[in-house]
Amino acid sequence: MELAQRPLPQPTRITQPYWDAAKESRLVIQQCACCKTRQFYPREFCTTCLSDSIEWIDSAGLGTVYTYTVNRRPSNAALSGKVPYVVAMIDLDEGVRMMANIIDTPPEAVRIGSRVRVCFEQVSDEITLPQFRLEV
Ligand SMILES: [Zn+2]
Repeated sequence: MELAQRPLPQPTRITQPYWDAAKESRLVIQQCACCKTRQFYPREFCTTCLSDSIEWIDSAGLGTVYTYTVNRRPSNAALSGKVPYVVAMIDLDEGVRMMANIIDTPPEAVRIGSRVRVCFEQVSDEITLPQFRLEV
């Protein structure tokens, strides 16, 4: 029996710098060079002023849980060994919101408002996922 493959992100021209940074254990977000708006997920244009002068800045990797859910049934067979797991919306201190798993943590320990810190989960040769752990 063939093991199910975990669905992985497919980097694009726009998102490649994000995935390259993650492989180096860095979390990066976009910032507009014109109006300084920060944004996530990566886009080709600034969502505020439509400039295409977008730069990448390093996040300190600290944030707060905005909301979360606990998946008790795997969304696909490849995740069957991971349940229950936490899917969270995290407000980074730099002002953007992103989705990630909170790992290495009992789900019942997670709260809205919990402080979290980024960590990096290598899932293939090409893809390392920015994930989060509870900050202690
Ligand atoms: Zn802008």
